[in-house]
Amino acid sequence: MISMTDVHKWFGQFHVLKNINLSVHKGERIVVCGPSGSGKSTMIRCINRLEEHQRGKIVVDGIELTRDLKNIELVRREVGMVFQHFNLFPHLTVLENLTLAPVWVRKMPKKEAEDAAMHYLERVRIPEQADKYPGQLSGGQQQRVAIARSLCMNPKVMLFDEPTSALDPEMIKEVLDVMIELARSGMTMICVTHEMGFARTVANRVLFMDRGEIIEQNEPEAFFNNPQSERTKLFLSQIL
Ligand code: ADP
Ligand code: MG
Repeated sequence: MISMTDVHKWFGQFHVLKNINLSVHKGERIVVCGPSGSGKSTMIRCINRLEEHQRGKIVVDGIELTRDLKNIELVRREVGMVFQHFNLFPHLTVLENLTLAPVWVRKMPKKEAEDAAMHYLERVRIPEQADKYPGQLSGGQQQRVAIARSLCMNPKVMLFDEPTSALDPEMIKEVLDVMIELARSGMTMICVTHEMGFARTVANRVLFMDRGEIIEQNEPEAFFNNPQSERTKLFLSQIL
């Protein structure tokens, strides 16, 4: 579904991604962890071209990401993304947030888009919030709306960039539960998160990044119980 081969990226002189090699098969659930500033966000943002890589090759579902705008658009159709800050439109209701892109970008009939939106709001367990504005919802509810909004575009892959790190502790679980349910439904997912309980529950592979490199990757059991690199051990000792 995703392949990154010898991918490098620079911000000016700063070499932010170094020789990234990663392949993700359909239905895999990858958790990415690592210290702040190690390049986690930049790496997953390259997968839907929110950031441009300068060397190497990224292919998503058979489509190579190049300067070709047509390919970028095709890839973005397949890849949904959820951010730390929910990025909902504050002046639109929940339902309008969910139907905006399907109606205006995909040209879906409004009624059909609304039916789909309600289906996904039920999946994230907040159908009763459809007519509220984002500001009237809790952080956890807003993040669930953001997940539902992504799902409305029917993505083949979901990228999550620290989706719970801006939430109050009591709201983290309701968002993780939705993500767990999504994983069980077979969605291909890459999640940047430091929720190690989540990683143990749903990931089939955990990746550790440091200073722009993938230092280590393994299935959760081995990753947590028997980390190989000193840098991984140090990181785990600080967060667990
Ligand atoms: P992480 O998500 O692991 O915390 P990021 O991918 O956000 O790390 O950032 C990796 C490094 O790249 C950091 O040192 C950050 O300051 C730098 N960086 C991120 N975005 C930009 C940018 N647009 N311009 C310049 N430097 C950036
Ligand atoms: Mg980040």
